[in-house]
Amino acid sequence: MAQILAPSIQWQVGVTKNSFYARPITAKFLDSLLLNQKGKVSARGSSKFRVSAIKSENSTINRLENLLNLDVTPYTDKIIAEYIWIGGSGIDLRSKSKTISKPVQHPSELTKWNYDGSSTGQAPGEDSEVILYPQSIFRDPFRGGNNILVICDSYTPAGEPIPTNKRHRAANIFSNQKVIDEVPWYGIEQEYTLLQPNVKWPLGWPVGGYPGPQGPYYCGAGADKSFGRDISDAHYKACLYAGINISGTNGEVMPGQWEYQVGPSVGIEAGDHIWCSRYILERITEQAGVVLSLDPKPIEGDWNGAGCHTNFSTKSMREDGGFEVIKKAILNLSLRHKEHISAYGEGNERRLTGKHETANINTFSWGVANRGCSVRVGRETEKQGKGYLEDRRPASNMDPYVVTSLLAETTILWEPTLEAEALAAQKLALNV
Ligand code: ADP
Ligand code: MN
Ligand code: MN
Ligand code: MN
Repeated sequence: MAQILAPSIQWQVGVTKNSFYARPITAKFLDSLLLNQKGKVSARGSSKFRVSAIKSENSTINRLENLLNLDVTPYTDKIIAEYIWIGGSGIDLRSKSKTISKPVQHPSELTKWNYDGSSTGQAPGEDSEVILYPQSIFRDPFRGGNNILVICDSYTPAGEPIPTNKRHRAANIFSNQKVIDEVPWYGIEQEYTLLQPNVKWPLGWPVGGYPGPQGPYYCGAGADKSFGRDISDAHYKACLYAGINISGTNGEVMPGQWEYQVGPSVGIEAGDHIWCSRYILERITEQAGVVLSLDPKPIEGDWNGAGCHTNFSTKSMREDGGFEVIKKAILNLSLRHKEHISAYGEGNERRLTGKHETANINTFSWGVANRGCSVRVGRETEKQGKGYLEDRRPASNMDPYVVTSLLAETTILWEPTLEAEALAAQKLALNV
């Protein structure tokens, strides 16, 4: 535990110097500063000690980088697989590394593994073993080569999914023939907030104070409007490299907040890809010395919260006449509003206030092009008479396995009573 909270000082110092918010200080840069101030000869003399100190620090980093980037393929077939799983809070990600005898193409080629569940809040100390089942693999953008990231889910030694394993139930829903036939697509908009380490205050914000009000930051550019772009960009490329179906990124309304979209992805893949993209983001922010927050409302008051809008369509919604199917899905969603809200993330009540482009948590609403609704239908979908819906309720810390499978369950598998349906249709002005 102590190791997680207090990374080695040496490493932090080295990385901070090279990270995006501090100007990298090189020996050359220092030299040029001193030359300008004092003239050639005296500058070289007086700066000798400082320059060589910085030089040796930099070369330590370079030597580490050389080793980290070593190409081992001429010498061994072995690869490293990073087994990743969801920890006891249901939102924290854990991982450990395993040597595999040769490159693999499919998770079925990987063996199960185990971890100490008593250290992640997932098992009692006297029977601590939790078993990892490899489910989905990605290229590892950190190690490169044939090395891989492996998204796993967790089981007891007897083969029962443990409570934080939401993938198991989701996979069951997505293997239902009715759901398979509807080829459910998901486009997930993952919002997140970057925090300064130690103070846990958003990146770019004055410590102990606030930036100017929201307005200039959304999709903004400039040192006074955009904070953490290198992290967002590094993450974008890393996801593409890994094979994640990332479809875009944007700076958010609250300064220090960002979004990326993943999808459209089919079925269980949507959850696997979001979890892997979150893991990569945790690793990149770790390298940059910035703290990642998926809290749905990181700053109280007149600041936007962070959500995970889930865009959803079925085959019949995407075909001619699809708008009618979308309306019927909205009707079903309205009748199961409470179930959905309780599955859409911890602390979402702080975010779904009815302000800041959200609908109030207690009421279900829908509308075309309306960002103050629980569910929004795009103008294009209305115009074409087919397309998709956007569920705006999920919080940034939602479990995508839960949200995607619940959407499929409520709109494809579940049927309300005729009376309930008639009442809801009247209430929502939906003629289906
Ligand atoms: P917003 O306008 O709400 O900010 P974004 O452009 O951020 O929307 O995200 C929309 C997401 O919806 C993208 O990930 C996109 O791939 C996805 N999407 C597009 N068409 C569909 C569809 N038919 N079904 C599900 N998702 C879709
Ligand atoms: Mn968006
Ligand atoms: Mn957004
Ligand atoms: Mn959206």
